[in-house]
Amino acid sequence: MKEFKAERIEGLMPSGIRMITRMCDEAGGINLGQGVCDEPTPKEIKDSAIQAIRSDKNVYSKYEGIDELREKIAVKMKDYNKIKCNPDTDITVNVGSTGGYVAACFSFINPGDEVIMFEPFYGYHLNILHLCKAKIKYARLSAPGWYFDFDEFKKLITNKTKAIILNTPTNPTGKVFSREELTFIADICQKDGILVISDEMYEYILYDKNEHISIGSLPGMDDFTITISGFSKSYNVTGWRLGYTVAKKKFTEKIGILSDLFYICAATPLQHAMIASFNLPDSYYSELRASYTKKLDLIFPALQNAGFKVHRPQGAYYLLADVSSMGLNGKTDASKKLLDLTGIGAVPGESFYENPEDGKNQLRFCFSKEYDVVEEACRNLQKLKIH
Ligand code: GLN
Repeated sequence: MKEFKAERIEGLMPSGIRMITRMCDEAGGINLGQGVCDEPTPKEIKDSAIQAIRSDKNVYSKYEGIDELREKIAVKMKDYNKIKCNPDTDITVNVGSTGGYVAACFSFINPGDEVIMFEPFYGYHLNILHLCKAKIKYARLSAPGWYFDFDEFKKLITNKTKAIILNTPTNPTGKVFSREELTFIADICQKDGILVISDEMYEYILYDKNEHISIGSLPGMDDFTITISGFSKSYNVTGWRLGYTVAKKKFTEKIGILSDLFYICAATPLQHAMIASFNLPDSYYSELRASYTKKLDLIFPALQNAGFKVHRPQGAYYLLADVSSMGLNGKTDASKKLLDLTGIGAVPGESFYENPEDGKNQLRFCFSKEYDVVEEACRNLQKLKIH
């Protein structure tokens, strides 16, 4: 029997993140695997979604998204990200930030183009590049600070380098790239004509004195940057699939055409609903940070007490823990073992490295859960006996 399979999907498997959610659901465990964000969505946004559906805003929008939402995004980009953009020509609303990333990669990456990613990485970033048949090179982020070596990074650049994938705050390490690091990358991009695709999904989730800087705001970078963000994590609407890309017209017109082909448009009533997010007061964002900080302050020592080696993240809501001291080894069976012993699901470290061996001693814990769920997980962690 002939096998019906496109070459481009050869070797693709469901992600470790998805796998853990499935395992965890089956076991009735606490899912600290997938970044689900199950705190309630702000009431104003939910009401506005219901209102949009009731008033029949239920048909296709322009492929770049509704005007009112793009106008609001443009103001936010100027005020928060320090990026000036024209809402008519420089913004596309997408089906999640992933939709934006897919459209950006397929618009600008040719088979054989070299693309640099930081490792550990978010697997979706990687696999979409595989679908584009890119040649991927890795810049290692090393614990405890998750810094990268500037000289090693320079050695990765060749005349085939097309793009650098940036993610700040970073999934899975919680690193927030500093101005010095971003300036270093920006200088290379401008000198060698390299595009940055910058996923800034966790831009509002920051700890301590860390500050989010968009590489697209650095001088001269508007010609070299596609900035991607979304609403999922900031407003607990991960199931709405609503994100956006911001880039100069020359990029945005391509991204828009592909978004149209792939998805037609993002869900229209939800685009209308999201306008309400821009009326939330500044205190919403300080409370968001405070609430995540409280959860971090709970889970961070709990993981340490369980015998794991962890580094305080600067942003996002993940902890990539070294679990070698526990006799677990970060492979899939380590996740299973953790689930069996504690009822907690965590993502195997191998999901974040090109060579799975490099992540074998790591597990990613996500704490975007309600406080009492994180509390319960921390109690369960005490069941682990330190070997
Ligand atoms: N970004 C989230 C994570 O890393 C969710 C991704 C997903 O569901 N695939 O867990």
